Amino acid sequence: MSALLPTSIVGSLPKPTWLAEPETLWAPWKLEGDALVEGKQDALRIAVHEQRTRGIDIVSDGEQTRQHFVTTFIEHLSGVDFEQRETVRIRDRYDASVPTVVGAVGREKAVFVDDARFLRQQTDQPIKWALPGPMTMIDTLYDRHYKSREKLAWEFATILNQEARDLEAAGVDIIQFDEPAFNVFHDEVQDWGVAALERAAEGLRAETVVHICYGYGIKANTDWKATLGAEWRQYETSFPMLQRSIIDTVSLESHHSHVPMDLIELIRGKKVMLGAIDVANDEVETPEEVADTLRRALRFVDADKLIPSTNCGMAPFNRDLSLAKLSALSAGAEIVREELVVAAV
Ligand SMILES: [Zn+2]
Repeated sequence: MSALLPTSIVGSLPKPTWLAEPETLWAPWKLEGDALVEGKQDALRIAVHEQRTRGIDIVSDGEQTRQHFVTTFIEHLSGVDFEQRETVRIRDRYDASVPTVVGAVGREKAVFVDDARFLRQQTDQPIKWALPGPMTMIDTLYDRHYKSREKLAWEFATILNQEARDLEAAGVDIIQFDEPAFNVFHDEVQDWGVAALERAAEGLRAETVVHICYGYGIKANTDWKATLGAEWRQYETSFPMLQRSIIDTVSLESHHSHVPMDLIELIRGKKVMLGAIDVANDEVETPEEVADTLRRALRFVDADKLIPSTNCGMAPFNRDLSLAKLSALSAGAEIVREELVVAAV
């Protein structure tokens, strides 16, 4: 692995067209039964190969075995009825028909552990696995049982911790919790959001990441972003608390966003996974653009703590575009690595 500025993707990569509808979020599978199991594994092999070929150091599954970053996890839990659906407002932004919590939630068996073990067999590089965060999970459900967002989040945090420990035992080096809800529910983040996240990460030897973000380039998100003004300061609420938390790394978007770079000073001491690749724009960044984003970040984060990454998942792109963006990320990181080595001599 590159010792300095190891590169990583945040989450998803496009799936092969024979596995799921391309350029579509949350596309249904095209295969079933054993063919689907085999198809997902083949897609995962390709995702690993492409990341390595394009110089990505920390390898993920590209979410090839998942349909949705939250619901695929919840589908495997007890206490949630996917037939009983209610319409709720997701992240205070768009309405969606969601499953109902009808009883005590529980994890009767491991969810992603077999997939993670398979990923472990494909590479000797450090591997990262993403799970949804507790607050983002409750925001994707209608709760008829606990009738308390905090209580349900706490239950999910306990379940996530069980899954994370099993992922760690399967050889996962880095466990990431996706918490886009942290940018919306600021009071709850303060009251119990960070505590629930820490509960999910409790006792892990694996490194931990929290990915907070402004979402994919879908319309509901871009419309919301348009209301946020010239400066996106939402991280100001969560960063000081995360700085004091047990979470090792904070992942945020930067390139083409309105997040003021100096906000990452608030998490000084933590590792920063910084998005230098826009996932809402078809234009491929130049290596120099990536390098420029990283250089600006280095004013607020120590070089040994910076992890160049994408802003968010790349599932909605076509494959060529996503791969070109991976190459740009690696090439940009390499420019800055060389500068840092020269500066250190
Ligand atoms: Zn994201």
